[in-house]
Amino acid sequence: MSYHQPPHKDRILIKGAYLMTQDDELGNLVGDVLVADGRILQIGQDLRDDEARLVDGTGNAVLPGFIDTHRHNWQGALRNLGPAWTYQEYRSQVQIGLGQYFEPEDVHIGNLAADLMSLDSGVTTVRDESHISNSPEHSDAAIAAHWESGIRAVFDHGWPSTEAEQWQFGSSRTHPDDIRRIRNEVLSDDSARVTLNAMLRGPELSTADVAAQDIRLARELGLRISMHVGLGEWGARQQAVRQLAESKLLASDMTFIHLCTSTDEELRMLAAHGATASVASALEVFMPGLGQPATNRLLAAGVRPSLSVDTETIVSGDMFGVMRAALAYQQLIIAGAAGPMDRAPGLPTFDAADLIAFATIEGARACGIDDRTGSLTPGKEADLIMVRLDHTNLLPATNVAASIVAGGHAGNVDLVVVAGEVRKEHGVLKKGDAVFAEAAASRDRLFHAAGLPLPS
Ligand SMILES: [Zn+2]
Repeated sequence: MSYHQPPHKDRILIKGAYLMTQDDELGNLVGDVLVADGRILQIGQDLRDDEARLVDGTGNAVLPGFIDTHRHNWQGALRNLGPAWTYQEYRSQVQIGLGQYFEPEDVHIGNLAADLMSLDSGVTTVRDESHISNSPEHSDAAIAAHWESGIRAVFDHGWPSTEAEQWQFGSSRTHPDDIRRIRNEVLSDDSARVTLNAMLRGPELSTADVAAQDIRLARELGLRISMHVGLGEWGARQQAVRQLAESKLLASDMTFIHLCTSTDEELRMLAAHGATASVASALEVFMPGLGQPATNRLLAAGVRPSLSVDTETIVSGDMFGVMRAALAYQQLIIAGAAGPMDRAPGLPTFDAADLIAFATIEGARACGIDDRTGSLTPGKEADLIMVRLDHTNLLPATNVAASIVAGGHAGNVDLVVVAGEVRKEHGVLKKGDAVFAEAAASRDRLFHAAGLPLPS
């Protein structure tokens, strides 16, 4: 297949752009970026290179690609179905209702649709939380889509969506053993564009014994771990982070997703152990039942969080909306109108520049890949985007970070480069048209198989 051929690496020189490097030493500057052999070779002023393709960055912003630290890519063909769904409606419709009917080709097309949507909106890395491990072929199909799309992906192997009720909320089933095969035979190279993590249920969704056994398995295989915790009232009762700390399993190889109803003390435990966090702010604001974004409480605990989309069935798959939702909820806190967990006086706040950092370098840290991506730093892999600031919705772009956060959308993303390869140019994605027709066919087949009417 095409991804076994050596990739073409573009040599690109972007001139005169406003560079938001997310590199502490370089900061923000007007300058040039030279990309060669898949890496950022140089950042500076008046760079020259006779062989490179020139990109005029004048008046545009160049920043590291967005990093979405938690998305269920398999649901890419089910996008925008239920913006007003509750958590229970989402679970019954998608995870339980449709998930059991997914064939490997549905996972493949869903993942591909999610990847392409991500690239189009400037997401260059996605952590694919794949709880659709209905068979080894399902997982292989998801991984194949990541190779094909050209995105950087952390494939997070999860549990099946068949018998969904048996795999969550007190489950006594251990993590599917197929993760060993994937580690040994499919994704053994931790420096590749597609790498492997373990999406575990932890003590919130499985028994304490199963949680401990699963964590030992992931560590035996040398895999970083992600875990959904702090989900609604159930999460508040379980206190998964506290359980992990008390059983000496909490460590810096873990990323905790949501944390909506985790206590402040748990967030401080997370910080003390060097673990990381993923706030799915848009989803948490839109979907009743989970709790509210923990962004400000995390900052109070000393954790700078990453951001994530979660499920495209409910919220838009771009990071602009995720950043805006985090900010919207913070403003409710400031107004004294937030949920009870956020009524402590003096919670620290964040601004637009912080949000860009949460959506880039903090995402790389949460995925354990900040040595390779997340900032415009010479030597790192070239994962970058150019955002046009001369579009009507962004002019006159007085403060660039504020403009992108307040007004940015996928249509402003002009150039997307992943590992030195151009994936979107002049505002046009390089491939994708056929994928969305197949995605619609997959959606129709799934609803038919489940005996459900298409929502109208
Ligand atoms: Zn999720």
